[in-house]
Amino acid sequence: MGIALIWSIALILIKWITSKRRGAISYDSSDQTALYIRMLGDVRVRSRAGFETERRGSHPYIDFRILHSHSEIEISLSARNIRRLLSFQRYLRSSRFFRGVNAQNSLYILDDGYNGQAKCMLEKVGNWNFDIFLFDRLTNGNSLVSLTFHLLSHNGLIDHFQLDMVKLRRFLVMVQEDYHSQNPYHNAVHAADVTQAMYCYLKEPKLAKSFTPWDVLLGLIAAATHDLDHPGVNQSFLIKTNHYLATLYKNTSVLENHHWRSAVGLLRESGLFAHMSAEDRQRMESQLGFIILATDISRQNEYLSQFRTHLDRGELCLENSAHRHFILQMALKCADICNPCRTWELSKQWSEKVTEEFFYQGDVERKCNLDLSPLCDRLTSNIANIQIGFITYLVEPLFVEWARFSNTRLSQTMLGHVGLNKASWKGMLQERSSSEEADPAFDDTD
Ligand SMILES: [Zn+2]
Repeated sequence: MGIALIWSIALILIKWITSKRRGAISYDSSDQTALYIRMLGDVRVRSRAGFETERRGSHPYIDFRILHSHSEIEISLSARNIRRLLSFQRYLRSSRFFRGVNAQNSLYILDDGYNGQAKCMLEKVGNWNFDIFLFDRLTNGNSLVSLTFHLLSHNGLIDHFQLDMVKLRRFLVMVQEDYHSQNPYHNAVHAADVTQAMYCYLKEPKLAKSFTPWDVLLGLIAAATHDLDHPGVNQSFLIKTNHYLATLYKNTSVLENHHWRSAVGLLRESGLFAHMSAEDRQRMESQLGFIILATDISRQNEYLSQFRTHLDRGELCLENSAHRHFILQMALKCADICNPCRTWELSKQWSEKVTEEFFYQGDVERKCNLDLSPLCDRLTSNIANIQIGFITYLVEPLFVEWARFSNTRLSQTMLGHVGLNKASWKGMLQERSSSEEADPAFDDTD
């Protein structure tokens, strides 16, 4: 009896110790709740804290690769089948159980040469010609974790806010993994690129001299999470397929609301700000929403005219926190669509990726007999046309105003690249049309 009792006590102790140890790394009681909420797959289940957050991994994962699959197994393409099959894939990928087994965070398996080169690149992280694609390769696909961790650490934010390094790393790994690596464009590398651009803007003299550590932390976290769990299709696709997220957010800033709520969910799950006062945590969460929601491109004109009015009246005063946060919104908007402001080599790669994502959506729409979204039809649109329109109607007007606000070498460099890149796309378009004229059969063979 005595031995049995000692053995039971020992077992209880071992269980307690292992659960505690796991708690320190990746589990605690509230995480377990979150885990089961995810497993139940019910988006209606909310956080107990009273503030609505999105359940992570809740989005039915749409894997467009099946459209290009030449597998002998015929896959039925009814929307319902896609959803049922791929929700489970998404669940597998996002489940912490499986994440634990399949840790993709393999920074440490890189040899020293790669790590050394990645570290070297980080010394120039504030340069506008920073090559995020190369950095992503050097970090074995961990660009978002490595870059954001470095920026927070290098700028003294970890010390200033007394952030727990383990929780921070855990938060960033979850953020990175909740981006869909299968998306050609809206993936963690885009988030890393936007975070790097945001950092460049935060370093601009006007911002650097008046922004507080809180603003910098807010800006960098907003940039890193601004497209979290992006499904690789746009809002209109979600609305016309009656997706539950469209219903949940009443067809308004559907994706941006989802990115924000997902980010808040991860902040809470990681406990990154658990040591802050409830008031500060709530302030951080709502300000994060304020900034991320500004990336809704359908509200571009609204923000732009507000920006113009402020500049015309010369009334922006960065001592005022409301004005600083408005500038954070504008900075994130610029960072989000800054691809044409990069060098041609980088800009061209981004253009190819975004076009690929648009055309995949168009392919799904065609196969499912849905109306084809503008710019998504590979039969009528092309990369050069899409880029020229994007630059003319969205990028140039925004960056012209940004240069009025922050007239620096960086803003002039960005406008310079925009002009050159637009000219290159125009040149390619002309070449294309002259070769079509020269060869009447071009259309049939294209
Ligand atoms: Zn984005």
